Amino acid sequence: MTEPALALLDFDAAGRAVGHHLADVTQPHLSVLDLAATRGDGVFETISLANGHLQALEPHLARFAHSAAMLDLPAPDPEAWRAAIRAVAALVVDADGAPVDEGFVKIVMSRGVEGGSGSLDPRALVPTGWVLGAVAPDHGAARRDGIRIVLLDRGYRHDIAQTAPWLLTGAKTLSYAINRGVFREAARRGADDALFVSTDGFLLEGAVSNLVLRRGQTLRTPRTDLGILAGTTQVDMFAWAESVGYATEYALLTPQDLEEADAVWLVSSGRHAAPVRAIDGRERPVDAELTARVNAALHARTH
Ligand code: PLP
Repeated sequence: MTEPALALLDFDAAGRAVGHHLADVTQPHLSVLDLAATRGDGVFETISLANGHLQALEPHLARFAHSAAMLDLPAPDPEAWRAAIRAVAALVVDADGAPVDEGFVKIVMSRGVEGGSGSLDPRALVPTGWVLGAVAPDHGAARRDGIRIVLLDRGYRHDIAQTAPWLLTGAKTLSYAINRGVFREAARRGADDALFVSTDGFLLEGAVSNLVLRRGQTLRTPRTDLGILAGTTQVDMFAWAESVGYATEYALLTPQDLEEADAVWLVSSGRHAAPVRAIDGRERPVDAELTARVNAALHARTH
């Protein structure tokens, strides 16, 4: 495969996805009036693709629908999206036409083209949707050598999702300028990634990943009601860990828990489990053996 593969969703006037058509990724398709571009007003998911298998597809579709509901967008029809996703995934192949070892499929739905329907009522808009598939970037170094992270204040209390749900924390929206910006802040501090901490001192999530700690035979991750994204990779990591004898726990965690952890990872669909080798400039041991087993298990997922 040379170019990424692309499908555009077809919607009816009521905003329901009714099908898709493949499109040429080298051609422009998005209007400059699309709310995806002008306001980041939409939702997305990135699904990993391993040897032709879409990983955690159903949890991604469920989270896509959850994010859409939080933004009062039309509910994405799972059958229509699934069909488009499968069609694009089938095109992510190598030069011999074989499925690639690691690819990804990104799905996006925006509120639509502002003014496009002749109405300024946002409820009258027809969404824009697309599915893009491509070969994944090489995450080998992060998985093998680990990443350096810094703790960054998120500026929110840990109960933000309950006290201010209109801030849409926990939805995977297209407004990712902050998520990208924290990588630059991390780089300014000599690190690769960041871990958000609430103003009242609880560990939250990475810029685009979830936190997992190991202490002894127990894996722990921050509770999902803390205004963070409920991770699909973390769920699959926990399911695998339980199957090989680890206990797992959703908890309120603090920087003290990080200090006391035997191993720390940031986990996400693309990079899978990246072991943390330094926090705020202090080196930490990496659990290379468990990291390799987790990543092998994550890569072996067939659904
Ligand atoms: N948290 C945030 C803010 C993310 O953007 C992501 C994924 O991109 C995650 C967590 C990890 O989620 P998943 O494992 O489903 O990719």
